[in-house]
Amino acid sequence: MKIIDVHTHPVFFGKGKTKPEVDQLVAYSKSLGIEKMVCLGDVLVHGPCPSAKELRAINEQTRQLLAWYPKFFIGFCYLNPTLGEKAIRGELDRCLAEGFQGIKLEIANNARDAVMTPLMRAAAAHDIPVLQHTWDTLGKPMRKTHSDPKDTCLLARRFPDVKIIMAHLYGFGLRGVLEAQDLPNLYIDTSSCLPFAGLIEYAVEKLGPERILYGSDIPIRELGQCIGRVTGSDIDESAKRKILYSNAHTFLNLA
Ligand SMILES: [Zn+2]
Repeated sequence: MKIIDVHTHPVFFGKGKTKPEVDQLVAYSKSLGIEKMVCLGDVLVHGPCPSAKELRAINEQTRQLLAWYPKFFIGFCYLNPTLGEKAIRGELDRCLAEGFQGIKLEIANNARDAVMTPLMRAAAAHDIPVLQHTWDTLGKPMRKTHSDPKDTCLLARRFPDVKIIMAHLYGFGLRGVLEAQDLPNLYIDTSSCLPFAGLIEYAVEKLGPERILYGSDIPIRELGQCIGRVTGSDIDESAKRKILYSNAHTFLNLA
């Protein structure tokens, strides 16, 4: 089955950045049917709230991967909304000129914070998607910077013109799936955490297969296991093909 992986970190805490390592990752991925990977960058190498200079270095690393494998990697520009509009626009414009096709957000702030507004307006103006790290953090102090599905869904509601990927189905679980209903601009990815039986089936039942995108979160997770969550689930073949490939193909305008 053909696969597009919308959530990867080929370089992670500095590991995996040499050409032989990248060659190996691409060859192994292709052997599993993966045609393309969205590269989100080495997002935590400088801590949760990177400076403009640190962001630039991370995005430059992604640009190197795109230069080596332009048909395989798709770059998302990693940004820190707390740095303000000028810094956001500057780094985003630089990355878009290099062929990046989306924005990645991690844990610098919560998705419901006001600092998101200039970034989301820029995403809307350029018509590019935003991938937001999301986890079940309701009632936990970490929610200050780790967005809960309530926060990411609120973001999608506030900015209906921006396509948002709420990352980590296995991190936000059943409640996140329910929060994601009735938000046509919100997609979920299947990445992260340990798999458990029935969750893909539940997401397909509640959301339909069209807003579910396959993601792995490599190298934190193993590719074969992440693919198996979808291929081994009790959904029909056409839904599997949508989740693993055609939804992302449409979402990323790859036609
Ligand atoms: Zn990730």
